[in-house]
Parts: sequence; C-alpha cells; structure tokens
Amino acid sequence: MARIIGLTGGIASGKSTMAKFFRDKGAAVLNVDAIAHHLSKPRRVLYKIYVQHFGEDILQPDGTLDRRAIGQKVFADKNERQWLNEHTHPILEHVMRQQIACMQRKNFPVIILDVPLLFEAGWDKMTEENCLVFVDEAVQLERLMRRNGYTEAEAQGRIAAQMPLTEKKQRADTFIDNNGSLEDSFSQAEKLWKEWTHAGIS
Ligand code: ADP
Repeated sequence: MARIIGLTGGIASGKSTMAKFFRDKGAAVLNVDAIAHHLSKPRRVLYKIYVQHFGEDILQPDGTLDRRAIGQKVFADKNERQWLNEHTHPILEHVMRQQIACMQRKNFPVIILDVPLLFEAGWDKMTEENCLVFVDEAVQLERLMRRNGYTEAEAQGRIAAQMPLTEKKQRADTFIDNNGSLEDSFSQAEKLWKEWTHAGIS
C-alpha cells in the first residue's frame, strides 16, 4: 500500500513546486485546488453551489466563474469563508477519498495530498505523515505578490486569512524550509523521499 503524505504550507510557500518534485520522483499527487477547479466548471457541483449562494455577480460574460471575484468576497468576510468551507469541504473530501482509492490500485509508492488547508479542514486524518513547506512572512509576501500580481494589501489579506504558521509547525511531522534556493529545498525533499520510499535503508 502506498504511504499517504500530506503536503501543506501557507499560500505561496512553495507547495506546488515541491509537489512537482515529488511527482517527478514517482509519487501520485492529488491537488485539492485542481479538484476544486475542475468541479467549478459550468454546470458542475461547485459551480451550482456558488451561483446559488453568490448570485450571477460571480459569473464572467462567458458564463464561467470569476474566481477572483469569489476570492475577494470570501477573503473579505470570515462568515463567507466559513460558508464556503462548510459547503465545499465535504464534497472535496469525498472526491479525494475516491482518488486515493484509485491511486492505491495503481501501485504508486507514495500518494501526496497537496492541500493548503490540510489542518484547517481536518484532512490530516487521511494522512500518515504531514510535511510542512514553510517560508518567513517577508519571503512569502514577496513571492505571493510576484506570482499573483497582488498588491501588498491583497497579499497580506490572503496570508492573514490562513492558520498561523506557528500552529501548522506544531501539527506537522516533517518540514521543508523553502526560504533559500530551490536547490536547497530540493535536497531537503530528496531526503524525505528516501525516508518515504525506504530507499535510504541499506
Ligand atoms: P504554493 O503552491 O505553496 O502556493 P508555489 O510553489 O506556487 O507555492 O510557489 C510560490 C512562488 O514562489 C512561485 O512563483 C514559485 O515559482 C516561487 N518559488 C517557490 N520556491 C522558491 C524558491 N526556493 N526560490 C525562489 N522562488 C520560489
């Protein structure tokens, strides 16, 4: 059976970058944001839930969801965030469990759940070990602004809406410090990969 590892970290901490590293090594990676994106296409389950709740304001002229508009509503208002989590998490959990079962049948050595809200959503109950990718807040702010084209205030809002890093650190089992170069982070990831696949044991 594959080991199921949670990969988490704050926004722009470097989760996707590390998930890609592990995928290239041979892991199956389940990305909850990609699942949510897929289910948010017109007429799919999350699309219907969003339109019912927020109204047609959150649609673009071509009928697809305006994810930025939803993001702004949700990040500006804690109650909306709570509503969103309560209505989407059970659906996402169900789909993740189905996909985990499917990956288990395909004999991957490791299945990685690439999930920003791993602890917040309680999805660490599905994993055997949880790896936290972390960066200092100044690095996080700068990478987030650069990647998403956010203003400093927008980026700060996104960071503030998440569980504080100190709490995530207490709940994680293993860590990748991504403050330095990619090369440095990949060498930390390589060590973890060896542990997960037992390739380091002679
Ligand atoms: P997440 O998936 O956690 O939101 P990403 O993996 O997308 O984060 O990384 C955030 C941004 O920072 C991306 O633009 C990525 O290319 C960049 N990045 C990640 N790690 C490093 C690093 N060690 N050095 C420089 N840039 C990095």
